[in-house]
Amino acid sequence: MANATPPSKVPLALYAIGLGSNRRHARFGDPRHVLMAALAALEGEDIEAVDASPIIASDPIGPSRRRYANAVALVASPLSPLEMLDRLQAIEADFGRRTGQRWSARTLDLDILLWSGGAWSDAALTIPHPAMTERAFVLGPLRAVAPDWQHPLLGRTVRQLAAKLVRAKPVDRGASAH
Ligand code: ATP
Ligand code: CA
Ligand code: CA
Repeated sequence: MANATPPSKVPLALYAIGLGSNRRHARFGDPRHVLMAALAALEGEDIEAVDASPIIASDPIGPSRRRYANAVALVASPLSPLEMLDRLQAIEADFGRRTGQRWSARTLDLDILLWSGGAWSDAALTIPHPAMTERAFVLGPLRAVAPDWQHPLLGRTVRQLAAKLVRAKPVDRGASAH
């Protein structure tokens, strides 16, 4: 068959990547434009963009008064989860993110939310992302691109998780911690 995949080729995995920004970038501009640039930066020789959600804006709750922009990208890649995490951290660094500032103002935050291989857990990486089920700013955009993706540990689809969150939390209290 002319179109058959060569046997040596590593199979592609699908990843859902959460993007967040609440700080301007000198060149790209406000958080929304940071995310547009980050979506473009994600694509490369070994990362193929499959889909991207609309970019949403959420109001901060708590000490930080900055607005967040959030989105979710679906990408296909031969990279392993740890290789993907490495790549995401390199892109964050390219966007000027400094380390050691969890939950504080940051130019770009890239999290692995879901992976087609299912669950992963070691010292550096946990998939699915443990907080995704509590965060409307994650589940909303994720539902836009992967409503039928089933959480491998909970056995519920993204659509079901999003509906459950809305019922449980009419006020979006998840917005304080990105
Ligand atoms: P949160 O994880 O609550 O969204 P955060 O994104 O602000 O918080 P970071 O400071 O960006 O946290 O990341 C801290 C560490 O989390 C990273 O160095 C990475 O090793 C680890 N980590 C564990 N699981 C994941 C994941 N699924 N995606 C990205 N990083 C992860
Ligand atoms: Ca992160
Ligand atoms: Ca995060």
